[in-house]
Amino acid sequence: MMEELRELYQEVILDHSKNPRNFRHPEDANHEAHGYNPLCGDTVNVYLKMGHNGLIEDAAFEGKGCAISLASASMMTEIVKGKTETEAKELFAAFQKLVKGEEEFIDAGEETDRLMMLAGVKDFPMRVKCATLAWHAMSSAMDEKPEVSTE
Ligand code: ZN
Repeated sequence: MMEELRELYQEVILDHSKNPRNFRHPEDANHEAHGYNPLCGDTVNVYLKMGHNGLIEDAAFEGKGCAISLASASMMTEIVKGKTETEAKELFAAFQKLVKGEEEFIDAGEETDRLMMLAGVKDFPMRVKCATLAWHAMSSAMDEKPEVSTE
């Protein structure tokens, strides 16, 4: 069962890295941040459109990097769109606990499955920074910090 799960996770991650969702620069984005992971060379620009009600109305990204960094950015944009700033940061915190191996499982409501899939990278410690890069950039964009590095 674990083996089947692992294969499913890999398929989903491969699909997102080959066909990244929300790979664009929205003209009406009002928050953005550039993230860099010197360990792997991944770069990402995250663009958010925050509504007056605190909702993330749109989330998109552009970037270059390894499959994990692209897949993670793609999945992150899908996950945070429609969430509030607080919800997005809570999901980021939960995701970090997963990839760092501090928690085996998390309950993130309807997003649990997608976060658990991405968290498969915890078996590859070198890849943890690749997987969290876009999330750091998303969080920095909301905090009006235009630059973030994983180092
Ligand atoms: Zn990488």
